[in-house]
Amino acid sequence: MARIGKPMCMVCRRNAEKLYLKGRRCESDKCPLDPRKQRKGMTLPKTSEYGIQMREKNKVKTYYGVLEKQFRRYFSMAKKSKGVTGEILLCFLECRIDNVVYKLNWAFSRRMARQAIIHGHIFVNGKRVNRPSYQLKVGDEISVGENSRYSELAKQAIENGRSIPVPAWLESSDKQLKAKIVRLPTRDEISVSVDEHLIVNFYSK
Ligand code: SF4
Repeated sequence: MARIGKPMCMVCRRNAEKLYLKGRRCESDKCPLDPRKQRKGMTLPKTSEYGIQMREKNKVKTYYGVLEKQFRRYFSMAKKSKGVTGEILLCFLECRIDNVVYKLNWAFSRRMARQAIIHGHIFVNGKRVNRPSYQLKVGDEISVGENSRYSELAKQAIENGRSIPVPAWLESSDKQLKAKIVRLPTRDEISVSVDEHLIVNFYSK
């Protein structure tokens, strides 16, 4: 995951949008972009068409914590795949293991998910995976290592995220800390609010 140099809330402010960069903490009423607290004039500055496309691209990169080089690689993989490039790009990002661990509510944020992976607490098909960018496929089984010190934290995160449903493309057993990718996510199951066509246009120049 790319390090966000600026304070995370500042990144959201710049986009005039909640990007949930602090994970579950963003649900609290401390979020400065909480609709009840929003100040007037919280709108995006006017910019050129190119600027709008770049802003949209940067927003998605920040949301998933991906660096430019990696992001370009996802784009070229999406371009070579059959289907709608923008949707496939988002699908690749959504199926990164750090995002999936977060979506399963096994971590309070993508950042925490990434730490759990780097420290070797997450397994795919019984093998330890320590690369947060690992791409999950349909049928892959993911689990928290047996006797892992992370299990307790994962259970706390699950308890905390009880009200947040796990997406239908993931089948999970909270008790066993195991899950399976049953299918790829559809566009409407990917929650990042972005116009992916703008990103495709940005890279197609
Ligand atoms: Fe963005 Fe609000 Fe979370 Fe801060 S608390 S990172 S502004 S969503």
